[in-house]
Amino acid sequence: MSGTIGWGLVGASNIARQFVINAIRQNGGEPRVVMSTDAARGAAFAKENGIAESTTDLTALLATPGVDAVYISTTNELHRDQAIAAARAGKHILCEKPLALTLADAHAAVDAAKAAGVVFATNHHLRNAGAHRAMRQAILDGRIGRPLAARVFHAVYLPPSLQGWRINAPEAGGGVILDIAVHDADTLRFVLGDEPESVVAMTQSSGMASVGLADAVMTTVTFRSGLIAQTHDAFTSKYAGTGFEVHGTEGSLIARDVMTQQPIGSLVLRNEAGEQAIDFDRTDLYVRALGAFHAAMRGEGQPAATGEDGIRSLAFGLAVAEAAKTGGTVKVETGL
Ligand code: NDP
Repeated sequence: MSGTIGWGLVGASNIARQFVINAIRQNGGEPRVVMSTDAARGAAFAKENGIAESTTDLTALLATPGVDAVYISTTNELHRDQAIAAARAGKHILCEKPLALTLADAHAAVDAAKAAGVVFATNHHLRNAGAHRAMRQAILDGRIGRPLAARVFHAVYLPPSLQGWRINAPEAGGGVILDIAVHDADTLRFVLGDEPESVVAMTQSSGMASVGLADAVMTTVTFRSGLIAQTHDAFTSKYAGTGFEVHGTEGSLIARDVMTQQPIGSLVLRNEAGEQAIDFDRTDLYVRALGAFHAAMRGEGQPAATGEDGIRSLAFGLAVAEAAKTGGTVKVETGL
């Protein structure tokens, strides 16, 4: 690896187009090739995004000169095999969440990267948000005393342009749990510095999602420290707004409009002194992630969210699904 870090994009996806290509370039990298199963769509995507080459073949993408890293943003059932192929080709890997549809597959992908000695990251963007980083720091600084409870409001409206595999393809890992609840898990773990232990959940299929998929879910979660948390995720709530709260013995942190891809929102600390706004950094979430990834490739630190983080958020998602199905309390088993 020398000079510009070259990327291969596996998947001509919306998320690559909207956020990740820009984040690669903002950090001095360059996407050199994109892979799509559809040659015409791949070529159009390459042209639209100023990428020199497109291919329908993963092996060809991995053999493209100057590709040091791959970004995998295909549908979820494909991540595992694509990550393993990339690892075996010696490429560093940024993989979308959920890492896979089963824990065993997520472990296989992460283990392949470990065996190959390449960086593996999970694209959990929310831990890169200034608001969540400020909350984590406030908790570490003791500003709310001992955290006792958290509430995550992540019920949004899935725009018609995204109402495809997420709502009609269980085999691709559709449904609100693997799409959104896994992000809640990662953000809670990051902000609290704590691990989820068990969960109860109820899902809703209100008509947007089909074939047995959930388009909304609520959970209650216990954490290792004894903290309890609630989450609400949906594809169907047009006007709910998002938020993240942590309530401690000495104060509450209340963030609004922060479960989003943009560096926006507000954060206040409420305690016996009243209410005080906490300012936070407004860096683009994906730009921060790609900065950490490039640094990790140079041997400087860890990516923002590692493969282990991706395994842990998937384990949470699978526990939520099981809890909703059985109506029981399910332990979050990570296999780590
Ligand atoms: P898209 O639906 O845009 O892309 C997923 C796949 O669908 C692509 O690989 C592509 O296949 C295929 N596809 C794209 N456009 C078309 C089309 N017009 N007709 C037929 N097929 C098409 O997915 P997203 O970008 O929404 O999500 C991709 C991954 O990223 C998922 O794993 C998701 O969970 C994750 N994600 C993560 C986010 C984050 O912030 N971390 C945010 C959004 C998504 P092909 O490659 O063959 O062209």
